Amino acid sequence: MSSAQSGTWGGARPLMRQLRDLMRSGGSTQERLDRVASLVADDMVAEVCSIYVQRAGEVLELFATKGLKPEAVHSTMLRLGEGIIGDIASRARPLRLADAQGHPNFAYRPETGEEIYRSMLGVPILRAGRVLGVLAVQNKTQRNYSEEEEEALETIAMVLAEIVSVAGIVSADEEKGTESARTMPARLTGLVLHEGLAMGTAVLHERGLVITRVVADDTAAELKRLDEALQDMLSHLDDLVAGSGLSDSGEYQEVIEAYRMFAQDRGWLERIREAIKGGLTAEAATQRVNTDTQARFERVKDPYIRERYADLKDLGDRLLQHLLKPDSQPQKHKLPREAVVIARTLGPAELLDYDTDSLRAVVLEEGSPTSHVSIVARALGVPIVGRCSGLLGRVQAGDFVVVDADNGQVMIRPRQSIRDYFQQAMDVRSARRALFQRLRELPSVTKDGVEVSLHINAGLLVDVPQIADVGAEGIGLYRTEVPFMVRHAFPDVEAQQSLYARIYQLAEGRPVVFRTLDIGGDKPLPYWQVDEEENPAMGWRAIRVGLDRPSLLRGQIRALLRAAAGRELRVMFPMISDVWEFRQAKALLMKELDVHNQDGRPSPRHLQVGAMLEVPGLAWQLPALLREVDFLSLGTNDFFQFFFATDRGNPRLARRYDTLSPGSLAFLRQLSEQAQAAGVPVTVCGEMAGNPLEAMALVACGLRRLSMSPPSVGPVKNMVRSLELAPLEQFAEQLSHSADHSVRAVMRAYAQDRDIAI
Ligand code: PEP
Ligand code: MG
Repeated sequence: MSSAQSGTWGGARPLMRQLRDLMRSGGSTQERLDRVASLVADDMVAEVCSIYVQRAGEVLELFATKGLKPEAVHSTMLRLGEGIIGDIASRARPLRLADAQGHPNFAYRPETGEEIYRSMLGVPILRAGRVLGVLAVQNKTQRNYSEEEEEALETIAMVLAEIVSVAGIVSADEEKGTESARTMPARLTGLVLHEGLAMGTAVLHERGLVITRVVADDTAAELKRLDEALQDMLSHLDDLVAGSGLSDSGEYQEVIEAYRMFAQDRGWLERIREAIKGGLTAEAATQRVNTDTQARFERVKDPYIRERYADLKDLGDRLLQHLLKPDSQPQKHKLPREAVVIARTLGPAELLDYDTDSLRAVVLEEGSPTSHVSIVARALGVPIVGRCSGLLGRVQAGDFVVVDADNGQVMIRPRQSIRDYFQQAMDVRSARRALFQRLRELPSVTKDGVEVSLHINAGLLVDVPQIADVGAEGIGLYRTEVPFMVRHAFPDVEAQQSLYARIYQLAEGRPVVFRTLDIGGDKPLPYWQVDEEENPAMGWRAIRVGLDRPSLLRGQIRALLRAAAGRELRVMFPMISDVWEFRQAKALLMKELDVHNQDGRPSPRHLQVGAMLEVPGLAWQLPALLREVDFLSLGTNDFFQFFFATDRGNPRLARRYDTLSPGSLAFLRQLSEQAQAAGVPVTVCGEMAGNPLEAMALVACGLRRLSMSPPSVGPVKNMVRSLELAPLEQFAEQLSHSADHSVRAVMRAYAQDRDIAI
C-alpha cells in the first residue's frame, strides 16, 4: 500500500473514536443506526448516507438514512441483485460510481427522492462471510470517490455488522422463512476442474469467525498480537502439510511454498499493520485488508490473477482464526460421512483442513483448472466443479447434493428419481472401474492380434503415477506449459530441470514425450503480459513464441537435456506450420546439445525429436516432414478446429461439423499410410483418442498409438480388445468416400452390431 493510502487510517481515527463512543452509549438499534448514518454523511462530506439491512426472502430494507426522504425508511425494499444496492449485496463487493444513474443496474425508487443524487459509493456489510446489508453514500455532483474513501466506508461497515447482528434485526423465525423458500430442487452448471461423480451432504465452507472487537484501545498490544498469530499460523501450516501425505506430490509443494511467501509478503502485512495503527484491533484490521483484497481482485479481469486471491483469502482467514482463538490449535473440520464442500473459493491448504476420508466432492462459485485448490483436489482424487454462479444463494448446509463433475453439473436437493439415477450411474461406474482394473495388466490388442499402444496425457506431477494405475505404456503428451501456468513467476532452468527429473523418476523407465511450451494465445501466463489478440488460437503461441524468444525455448531444452542425464529423451514441438519451422526449432535443440556435450554432461541415450501436427497446412508437406522427424503427434483438438474452420469454444458451432466425417477419415487414412511408408510412428493425442467410438475410427484408419487423459485408458483398452480390426478397416475405407455429413451414426451401429465396447 502506498504511503498516501496508509495515511487514510490516521484520517479515519477521529471517526473511529466517535463510533467507539457510540457503541458504548445506550439507545435503541434504530437510534444508533440513525446516528451512524449522520456521522458518516458528515465525515465523508456526502449529502446522503443510507443503511440497508437484508431481511427474509432475500430483500434489502432501507433501515436508516441521512439525506433520503424519511418516509422511505422501512418502506423501500430491493431484492437481492436488484439495483445498485442489490448488486453490491448479491456480489458482496463494493462499487464506486461517479455516474450511478448511468449504471445499467440503476433502479429508480421515487419514494426515496434519490434522483437528484448523481454519484454513489456503496460497500457490503459482512459478518463471517455473510452479507447482512449495504452501507452507501451519495452526492449530487459527479464525484469520483477515492480508494481511501472506499476503505474507510468498509471499516465503518464492520462496526455496523456488529450493531446489526447484536440487535438481532433478522429474527430466527425470519431466517427460517428464508430457508423454507430455498427448498426447491435446483441444477447449476459449472466448469469441470477434476472429473468424477459423487453425492453427499452439503457443508458450507465457513470458519464462523465473528469479530466482536473492532476498535482498539492499545495499538502496540494489537501489533504484538498480530506478530504472535502470524508465527503460530506459519508453524501450523507446516504441520498441516507434513501430515497431509501430499508433501511429496510435486507441484503441491510449490503451491504451499508460494503460499508461505504470500504470508511473508510485506505489502499484505504492512497493510494490516497500517490498519491497526489507524485504530483497529488486529482481527478487524486483518478482516478489513481481506475485504479490500477481495475488492481489488474483483476488478482484475485475468482469471489466473483472480485465482491468487483465493490464496490470500485463505491466509487472511487462517490468520483471523489464530487471532480469535489464540490458545486452541486449529482442528480438522469434522464432516458428515459423505460430504460435499461448498465455497466461493478455497485456498490450497483449506481443503486439507477437512477430513479427506469423508470428503466426496467440492463445488465452488469461482475457481479455474489451474487454481491451486484444483491441483490439491486432483492430488486427493476428489471431483471438483468450479465457476458455479449463484451457488451460495441456492444451497444451504445439510442439503443433499449430486455432483456430476464429468459434465460440470451440480444438482441441489434433487428429486428421489434423480438421486436413484445417479446412484445407479455410480454403481455402474464402480463395476466398470473394477473391470478396467482387471484390464490393467492385459495387453491392448485387437481380437485379430493388432497391437494399439495406449499412453496418457499429463500436465502435472500428480498425473504421472497414473501411467501404472491405468495400465498405460507411458506419457504420449506431457504438456510442459501446465506447471508454468500454476506458478507466480517463470521457473528458472534449475527449477525446470528438477521438475523434469522428477517426471523421469515417477515414470519409472516408461517413455515420456515432452512437448515444449505451448504458451501464449489462449494459454496466457499470469506473470507474462502480451498484447491482446483478436484470434488467440491462431495467434502468437507455442513454437511461434519459442522461435521469437529463443532464450525461453533454449532454457527449457537445456533443462530437459540435463534432466534426461543419459536417459532416452523425446522432445516435440507444438503448432509447427511448415518444415522450415521444425528445422529452426530442431537447430536450436542441436545447438543446446552441443553446449551440453561440451560441458561434459552425459548426452541422452537416445534423442528423438518430433513435431505436432495441428496446422492442416503441414499435412501438405508430409513427405518432406517425414524425412526430418523421428515421430509425429496429431493434436486433433487444434487440427480439426482448423480443418473445419470452426472455433471449438463457440457453442453455436459445437454440433455443426463432426470429426467422424468422410473428409476426416480420408485424411487420417492418408496420414497413417504415408507415415507407415516412411517408418515414422504417429501418436494421436487430442481428445478424440480418449473417446472409445472415435478411437475405434482412428484405429480403423491405421493409427496405432493413442494418448489420452488417464481415465480414458480403461474404456479405450476395453474397446480395442473387443475389436476385429480387418473388416472394420474395409468399412472405414468405404465410408471415407461417402458424401455424408457425418459417419458417426453408421460407425456406432457397426460397433453395436458386433459387440464392440464403445
Ligand atoms: C491438441 O491440440 O489436440 C493438443 C493435444 O494440444 P492442446 O490440447 O494442448 O492444445
Ligand atoms: Mg493443441
